[in-house]
Amino acid sequence: MLKRLLSYVSGNGKKKARTYQRQDIPRDQHNVSRSFISEPAKKVLSRLNNAGYEAYLVGGGVRDILLGGKPKDFDIATNATPEEVHDLFRNSRLIGRRFRIVHVLFGREVIEVTTFRGNAAEAQEDDDDDDRRTSEHGLLLRDNVYGNLEEDALRRDFTVNALYYCIRDFTVVDFANGIEDLENRQMRLIGDPETRYREDPVRMLRAVRFAAKLGFDIEPDTEAPIRELAPLLTHIPPARLFEEVLKLFSAGFGEATYDLLSEYNLLAPLFPETVQAINNGEPDELIRKALRNTDARIAQGKSVTPYFLFAAMLWPALQAEWRKRQDNGEPVQPALHMAIAKVIGRQVQATSIPKRFSGPMKEIWELQMRLPRRQGKRAFATMSHPRFRAAYDFLLVREASGEIEPGLGQWWTEFQETDERGQERMLTQLGSDGPKKRRRKKPTKKA
Ligand code: ATP
Ligand code: MG
Repeated sequence: MLKRLLSYVSGNGKKKARTYQRQDIPRDQHNVSRSFISEPAKKVLSRLNNAGYEAYLVGGGVRDILLGGKPKDFDIATNATPEEVHDLFRNSRLIGRRFRIVHVLFGREVIEVTTFRGNAAEAQEDDDDDDRRTSEHGLLLRDNVYGNLEEDALRRDFTVNALYYCIRDFTVVDFANGIEDLENRQMRLIGDPETRYREDPVRMLRAVRFAAKLGFDIEPDTEAPIRELAPLLTHIPPARLFEEVLKLFSAGFGEATYDLLSEYNLLAPLFPETVQAINNGEPDELIRKALRNTDARIAQGKSVTPYFLFAAMLWPALQAEWRKRQDNGEPVQPALHMAIAKVIGRQVQATSIPKRFSGPMKEIWELQMRLPRRQGKRAFATMSHPRFRAAYDFLLVREASGEIEPGLGQWWTEFQETDERGQERMLTQLGSDGPKKRRRKKPTKKA
């Protein structure tokens, strides 16, 4: 069964064989130490071991420690079934449909425990068990076949993600020459790249995400099919793509990730209208500037809000739609509202945007029209809006990106910093040098 996995035909039709052989790297030949692993992760590993199961740290946890970094989270692979894992940990829950996994919860830390997976595509050829199914595009619809450690390794996406650390004898187990790729700093898919992308097109996004985050190259055979297969991402449910977009842009390397996504045609399936607008000449400077700011915030340990990110990513699309409507004679304000509805309506067919984020995103956009109008009580009303701070930050990004003349941002900065008398003064000044307002007569109310 494994034999077929061991060789593959590469994209250009030439038969290439890459043999995978298990290598056990002893403690004195690697830098993974128990002290780099979180207490909860160690607890889960030893409890599984003590109950007689095999259990390993795997994925980003091992990869990032080997690279001298700090893992974002810890993933564990075991031969215990999800139910058995769940029975061992009171603080756990079974989740997922595509892959059933167990989350063991320790306060804010979540340890993800997966049961060794077998080769679902192989199994499908041998019998038609309902647990292994692929769609007409080669997409794996379900992948719940359990396997052993070696099969589990070869089902993982990249060689550098298929390294296992055993807490009992401190060895690192490498089935797919992951250590070598780690040393050469490259992302290489395990198996035939085209097949692996067809099984799960999200792997293309993962290739780019890790390449940007780790500063790795994408190995040539792994890179070759991406541009052509990128449209397969349109078959992925919008909710999953929303989650992937967040991972892509909130790892602290958003701008680099954005460049790679554009380079590999992967931005279009995620943000079709934005890409169309940019291709029609809409600048993407605001996106870059926003991502650069986001990267800086993450480097300082600050959080990023999904609605701000989406407000920026969709801004070129909104600008194009808004302008088109105004050119067709719609007044500014209604044109904006219609454009917002249109842009969101189309975007949610690509990536979903949960309501808790689309609401604030709209508000950021709408406030862009209110920020210039400050006379009378308006500045105070705008400033007390729950989304004022985000809208003000957005205005600063618009100015910094060269979309609008600087000035208004500085005014708002000062207005927030000064005291009440200073604010009064700023508003009076505005009244005298500001543009003359046309006052519309209030309709007289009928008694
Ligand atoms: P990080 O958590 O730092 O983003 P990671 O490598 O740990 O990176 P996860 O998404 O946490 O990534 O997944 C854990 C592991 O599960 C991966 O390292 C990989 O081995 C495997 N994996 C995740 N997604 C896929 C996929 N789509 N196809 C195959 N294997 C996957
Ligand atoms: Mg992880």
